[in-house]
Amino acid sequence: MSAFVTRFAPSPTGFLHRGHAFSALTAFEAARAAAGRFILRIEDIDATRRRPDYEAAIPEDLAWLGLAWETPVRRQSDHMADYGAALRDLSERGLTYRCFRTRREVAEAIESAPHGAMEAFRGAPLPPDEEARRVAAGEPYAWRLSLDAAARALGGFGGLAFVEEGEGPQGERGEIPARPELGGDVVLARKDVGVAYHLAVVADDALQGITHVIRGHDLFEAAHVQRLLQALLALPTPAYRHHRLLTGPDGKRFAKRDGAQTLRELRASGMTPDALRGELGF
Ligand code: GLU
Repeated sequence: MSAFVTRFAPSPTGFLHRGHAFSALTAFEAARAAAGRFILRIEDIDATRRRPDYEAAIPEDLAWLGLAWETPVRRQSDHMADYGAALRDLSERGLTYRCFRTRREVAEAIESAPHGAMEAFRGAPLPPDEEARRVAAGEPYAWRLSLDAAARALGGFGGLAFVEEGEGPQGERGEIPARPELGGDVVLARKDVGVAYHLAVVADDALQGITHVIRGHDLFEAAHVQRLLQALLALPTPAYRHHRLLTGPDGKRFAKRDGAQTLRELRASGMTPDALRGELGF
């Protein structure tokens, strides 16, 4: 067995559709080609959107597709303390701040920034007395990563890069200089959830020894942010293989919010796994 380890990491916030099947098969076949390991990880930190029936359907749908993975499967909601420890580590080093803004206030701040909507949110800690007062009053807040503090800690982001073995949405490949400012001061822990996506992914990719992150290029920008978190937390950087997004006959990408046909529906309509694999190019 080689040192190649990859994963498919769905969030149980809907039933899997063709786009997920394409992504899971891409990762699974890459592991097979490299005589490596394939891991399934359930990214269910968002308690406001996850559903037990969606989660139960994931292994069922993937097994139907012919995939096999290592057990036990890591379920992020069982490990909130790990992510909390990573957040505390960053916070104790002054790399985070509490952000009390609502979603709307953040959107407004972005709109009024010099470069308009292209600019990701950048904020700053509140004055200590105001912060203490709002915390004491029980106002909800999110923890954000301070890019200014991170840049000071690392002496700038010039030394940060990741290797793209697939391609980004603009055909980016090879050694890519990381531009964490694309993501702005990302949320590391959400008011309602406790931990946010980037922190949990970075922690788990390291913990599970992932050597290759294989996922859709809608998450290419996330790699820029995640590379910074890896540097701040002294974690190894996997190679990235972003793949194209599957589009439907209308040229639009498959997405659960557009009501893309789920794998369960395809199965119920009599489609065989072989037919679907063939359609997806496997
Ligand atoms: N859980 C994420 C999603 O469903 C994928 C995370 C990743 O592959 O980094 O979109």
